[in-house]
Order: sequence, then C-alpha cells, then structure tokens
Amino acid sequence: MGVRPGLAVLQVGNHPASKIYVRNKMKACGEAGLYSEHIELPAEADESTLLGRIRILNQDARIHGILVQLPLPAGFSAERVVEALAPAKDVDGFHPTNMGLLTLGNPRFVPCTPLGVMRLIEREEIEVQGRHAVVVGRSSIVGKPMALLLLQRGATVTICNSRTPDLGAMTSQADILVVAAGRPRLVTARMVKPGAVVIDVGITRLADGKLAGDVDFQSVLGTASCITPVPGGVGPMTIAMLLENTVMSAERTSAGRGSP
Ligand code: NAP
Repeated sequence: MGVRPGLAVLQVGNHPASKIYVRNKMKACGEAGLYSEHIELPAEADESTLLGRIRILNQDARIHGILVQLPLPAGFSAERVVEALAPAKDVDGFHPTNMGLLTLGNPRFVPCTPLGVMRLIEREEIEVQGRHAVVVGRSSIVGKPMALLLLQRGATVTICNSRTPDLGAMTSQADILVVAAGRPRLVTARMVKPGAVVIDVGITRLADGKLAGDVDFQSVLGTASCITPVPGGVGPMTIAMLLENTVMSAERTSAGRGSP
C-alpha cells in the first residue's frame, strides 16, 4: 500500500509574514496531495508546550516532515526547539545533525532555500565548477548552506557579511552572485560583473506593501546573463523543495531508512 507523505507545520504567535508563509506551504501541500497539519500555538504559550507537541509529532507515523516556522516569539530558544526535532523528520535541514551531514558533503536534508537555488542553477544548466561564486549573507538558514553547496559543486566561494568593507569590490568579481542579506536593492548594476548569474533570495515588505528583493532588478537586468525576480523567483522554489524533502522522507520511512 502506498504511503501518503505528511508535513506538520508548527506556528507560534501571529507574526504577519509567517502567517503568509505558512498559508502558502499548506496550500502547496493540498495541491500536491500531501497530508498536512497546521498547529498554531498562541504567542503566550511556553516553550515546554511547543517541545511537547514536537515530541508527539516525532512519534506520529502520519508525519514525515516537521517544520517550525521561524522566527519564534521572544523567550523561545530556536536552537532548543530545532534540536527537539527528530533529525529524520527535519525537512528544513536546520537540526545540528543535518547541518553536520551537509558540511561533511553527505546531506540528508538540505535547507529548502539554498536547495531551491541549486535546483534553479541545475535546470538552467549553469556551470558551477571552476566559477567564482559570491554569497552575500552568512545566516545558518541561507548564506552558510548556500556557500557549502556551491563549494561542493566545485565553485570558488566568497562569503560576504555586513562587515565586508567594500561589498561591490566582492560582488563584481562573481560569475554567480547569490544575495541573501534582507536589504532591499542593496546590489545595483555597477556591483555586478557583465554576464553574471544573479540570484536574489531577499524578500522585504516595503512601507507601500510591495515586496522587494536585495537586487535592483531593473538596473541589473541589462548587466546579468540571468536574474531571478522577487517575488516569483527563489520563493516558490523554497516551497517546492519543502515538499520534495517531505516526499523523500516518506520514501525513506517506507524503505525502512527513516530512523533518527
Ligand atoms: P539574516 O539571518 O538576517 O541574515 C542576513 C545576512 O546578511 C547576515 O549574515 C548579514 O551579515 C548579511 N548582511 C546584512 N546586511 C548586509 C550588507 N549591507 N552587506 C553584506 N551583508 C549584509 O537573514 P536570512 O534569514 O539569511 O534571510 C536573508 C533574506 O532572504 C531575507 O530578506 C529573507 O526574508 C529572505 N529569505 C527568503 C527566503 C525565500 O524563500 N525566498 C527564505 C529565507 C529567507 P551579519 O551576519 O554580519 O549580520
């Protein structure tokens, strides 16, 4: 008998962006025929309640993937919460075990956003080996795993952060530029090498309600050979990779390889 892949999304509080992200994830599960559970806890819930729900889901045979929507309200330790997830159900790939496996080049679950970026690069048949990739941002959920994946594919990788003295001097050397800083329109045309591949991970809601990426799309369009738009570029890929990781987890479970 076939196994229906199942995803549980835990959300604490009423963070406005999280509400939209969770809604999109649940909708995608429904469209793809996955079983899904959306578990909402009030912002005033305590961490032990959340940890208790995670422990139940870790044992629930209908659930193959568990995602805790970040950020959590003040007072919660995201590290403790992520560590409570069964690594075999950590479809976001943030558990230290999964981060370690990724670092060793033997990943179980790759964080969805960088995995989506790599999928775009593969589908566009962009050569990575021997190219110079510059990643702007060093977070554990985007920048760092992104840099590792590019490194593992044979790129020479530079990782920039908010203290990088001359960002443009770095980005303008990139054959492949991935920007994940959360700073609207940080990267302009003069910071991009002609013909570069530019991937914009950033999403910021501006005061006028519009979404903006980290790259000034209109100016860079004429300089880059390929560029991803915001919205509509990396964002939908992140959701697609979440579903893919959940299906992969279900397949592993049915093949008897799902133990933590
Ligand atoms: P984050 O944790 O705030 O990290 C941002 C990183 O950018 C930090 O490493 C920071 O450096 C660096 N940075 C900030 N300003 C910079 C500057 N002026 N020059 C160079 N580096 C700078 O954010 P995140 O979670 O990685 O997310 C980054 C962006 O991607 C956000 O806009 C987020 O909404 C978006 N995002 C999109 C998706 C999607 O599905 N499309 C998924 C996840 C995130 P320091 O470390 O020195 O502070």
